[in-house]
Amino acid sequence: MIRRRVTILGATGSVGRSTLDLMDQAEQAGSGAFEVEVLTGAGNIALLAEQARRWRPRLVVTAEAERLDDLKAAVAGLDVAVTAGPEAVVEAATRPVDWVMAAIVGAAGLRSAWAAAGTGATLALANKESLVSCGPALMSRVRQAGGRLIPVDSEHSAIFQVFPADAPERVARVVLTASGGPFRSLSRAEMARVTPEQAVAHPNWSMGAKISVDSATMANKGLEMIEAAYLFGLEAGRIDVVVHPESIIHSLVEMIDGSTLAQMGPPDMKTPIACALAWPDRIAWPAPRLDLAALGALTFEAPDETRFPALALARQALEAGGAAPAVFNAANEVGARAFLDRKLGFLNIAAVVAETMERLARADEAADAPDACDAALRIDALARRTAQRIVADHAQAA
Ligand code: NAD
Ligand code: MG
Repeated sequence: MIRRRVTILGATGSVGRSTLDLMDQAEQAGSGAFEVEVLTGAGNIALLAEQARRWRPRLVVTAEAERLDDLKAAVAGLDVAVTAGPEAVVEAATRPVDWVMAAIVGAAGLRSAWAAAGTGATLALANKESLVSCGPALMSRVRQAGGRLIPVDSEHSAIFQVFPADAPERVARVVLTASGGPFRSLSRAEMARVTPEQAVAHPNWSMGAKISVDSATMANKGLEMIEAAYLFGLEAGRIDVVVHPESIIHSLVEMIDGSTLAQMGPPDMKTPIACALAWPDRIAWPAPRLDLAALGALTFEAPDETRFPALALARQALEAGGAAPAVFNAANEVGARAFLDRKLGFLNIAAVVAETMERLARADEAADAPDACDAALRIDALARRTAQRIVADHAQAA
């Protein structure tokens, strides 16, 4: 029986809800028992309050300062403390617990992930953007605090489960699988006309809006290449991507002797979350099971970096090093948001990223790799301002 005192940052999102569902199912299956210290959300007060009623955390937090009274009213009668605002989220993340799920989306999740990393708790990291913006600093902070970082992203969970952490020299390369997203077989001309609704309708995975757009542009796989580099200490040349539309093999590790280990499962985020929740143990829950005979065949193809330039841009950022990955991440977030807000065409998301990277490639402020959270946030802000100006230029030109 796994017992954990946990905090869920971003409890109301796709990963946050899956985490709580899984905790519920593991409790029912008798394989886990969880006490909740903190739940955080943002605008979805009704859901946050419902989660608070189920889990009775010590503290609930909304990131939106102006929603404090709404949240207080929604949890009235429960024995739970209530706070609000971005600072309150960061403060909540410093509370001592065994396990923290960092599942806030985007750079908004960086400060709380950084705070949690300093506590020595096991950090289940779904927020890939924080790893991309200041990965080396975040990894060493976890180590220094005596904690452990467990990746939640399905590809990195797959690699983590088979990677020989004590003998990394045995690894030749890792191969990240990519579903190819909803536009895998569209031409550039067809992609020019796609809508946000089409982009968020992912064929295999049910996810939040931003990561769904990232998956459609394949910027997600680019972020994941950078994530893999920092998590497993690999240079760009040892990280490959293969498109695998069925999303059954979640990634592979090739050893120096030519043997390749893969991790497989139905495409359900609860499986990597379950792995992070129990690691190094395992918990039982009513997981969907793999039926290879029913699937019949698994297919693979090379990624097309001409139709999906975000992949090449991410590789370029990783190779350039310094602040380039943080710039890639911030510009991509601005581009994806502008596309969701219908201010930017789909193909222009990568164009905005390319232009932002180019403009900041020679900027002194963006030369060094961020050595801490604040430095990463300064670069993030600079790249965001630059990307926003470029988005505005595109909107004017359109
Ligand atoms: P989501 O949009 O469904 O949920 C985001 C959560 O963050 C919500 O709880 C929301 O209230 C909170 N939030 C949003 N803005 C905030 C802010 N400014 N301050 C504080 N909290 C804020 O996102 P998601 O799909 O659950 O993704 C969460 C993270 O996990 C992302 O970094 C994503 O890349 C990563 N991830 C998600 C999946 C998936 O299947 N959804 C898979 C792999 C990795
Ligand atoms: Mg992933």
